[in-house]
Amino acid sequence: MSCPCCQTVNPATSARCYQCGTVLIHEAVGFSKEARETAQRLNRKMHTGYGGVIGLILAFLISPMFGGSLGALLPICTGAGALIGRLIAIHKENIL
Ligand SMILES: [Zn+2]
Repeated sequence: MSCPCCQTVNPATSARCYQCGTVLIHEAVGFSKEARETAQRLNRKMHTGYGGVIGLILAFLISPMFGGSLGALLPICTGAGALIGRLIAIHKENIL
């Protein structure tokens, strides 16, 4: 994307011109800090939830391997799934 001020060609994903700093993608920089933090919190909760559900399903799927008992398997799988989901959300935030 070329900058409207200095005509420097920037990568299509740049939020600002790397030459003069002009905002190129208003959507990417226009949200307030609070809005971004709320979106981040929501995103983490969503991923934690998905991970937990996947862990729960996994616990049911692998329970026959452990004699069909869900006793300790259920909380371990659900907890691990939720943790992995949360880590994925945090990892995604860091690469954005
Ligand atoms: Zn520029």
